[in-house]
Amino acid sequence: MASPEEHAVLSASSSARWLNCTPSVVFSAPYEVERKDTTFTAEGTAAHALAELKLQFDTGKITKRKFNAQLKKFKAESEYYSVSFEEFVDDYVGFVNETIAEYSDPEVELEQRVNFSDWVPEGYGTSDVVIMTDSVLHIVDLKFGKGVAVSAIENTQLMLYALGTYYEFNMAYDFDTVRMTIHQPRLYDTSTYELSVKELLDWADNFVKPRAELAMAGEGDYAPSEKVCQWCPAKAICKARADLNLQNAIKYDFADSNELEPAAISDVLSQSKVIKKWLEDVEDYALTQARDQGQSFPGWKLVAGRSNRKIANAEAAASILSKAGYAEIYKPQELITLTNLEKLVGKKKFGDLLNDIIVKPEGKPTLVVETDKRPEISSTAQAVKDFE
Ligand code: SF4
Repeated sequence: MASPEEHAVLSASSSARWLNCTPSVVFSAPYEVERKDTTFTAEGTAAHALAELKLQFDTGKITKRKFNAQLKKFKAESEYYSVSFEEFVDDYVGFVNETIAEYSDPEVELEQRVNFSDWVPEGYGTSDVVIMTDSVLHIVDLKFGKGVAVSAIENTQLMLYALGTYYEFNMAYDFDTVRMTIHQPRLYDTSTYELSVKELLDWADNFVKPRAELAMAGEGDYAPSEKVCQWCPAKAICKARADLNLQNAIKYDFADSNELEPAAISDVLSQSKVIKKWLEDVEDYALTQARDQGQSFPGWKLVAGRSNRKIANAEAAASILSKAGYAEIYKPQELITLTNLEKLVGKKKFGDLLNDIIVKPEGKPTLVVETDKRPEISSTAQAVKDFE
């Protein structure tokens, strides 16, 4: 389940997008799909819970007895617990303890709920670790993913959490510096970004607040870029992103020759990944719409993809072929391939013997040009309508 702050229209986790491309929130809303709790997010939640427990003990917030009981419970109940899982969590906990030790007599808060709604409507978040001294506010964030390293440098999600943390505690302190750190133990990656309180508040007042107002109203300029568009629900149907990619594809002034020079190929290659990603996004969207919603696209139709025959019951086929006198029908462990079996037995006899247990599964729906010879198949939506 997504955390409550993730339900906000302008969530901190999507702030890099809506702060840059303000119309994207309203524009992409119809394409938003409900966020499901994936294995990765659930594993991250478990890592945060174990880290919080260990840090609660290390910072004297719970007794040894309570810690041991909760650790035992966690190990017994969490489906993500393993020795290596705990080692990575310990790496983060060790890093946090070292960071705390760098300050003299700091206050530490864990899993601190913070509020930055003065700048962003429904702006809430959670700071994993907050370290406070008279002059420094330092927040540390655990990222448990092992796919892509997330940098703290100008990370708007972290800056919004820092803003909310500042808002929460500034009455009791005299902060002048804000530090933000991301520690990603499974990628052995740590990065820290620092700015003055003045810079953070300038950014919040003069950039975040007006951009949030534009975003809520669906106003402002579209600002496509791969970084900004990759998580946008409208990435497949957005004209600004299409324009950018098409312009990138044709912007090269190739030399007057029948052959692409190596430099021209380099130019094409440099764009290829981004353009391919955009094309894949459009293809995935079109296939999903055609297959699940019955949407048609002029000149295209939905057909069954290619598929191969397979023997539905290997044991029955082996028994029939053995009874018919064929011995070499097994690979060391399994039936030889259907094509080789057919070669061994002969097409006709193979058909006579096994036709009843040879099946040809329907191929994956594929969008092809209208002139393709394969017959059109109906969409899931049409099939449901027909059934009704
Ligand atoms: S795809 Fe990119 S340019 Fe288009 S609305 Fe989304 S973020 Fe903005």
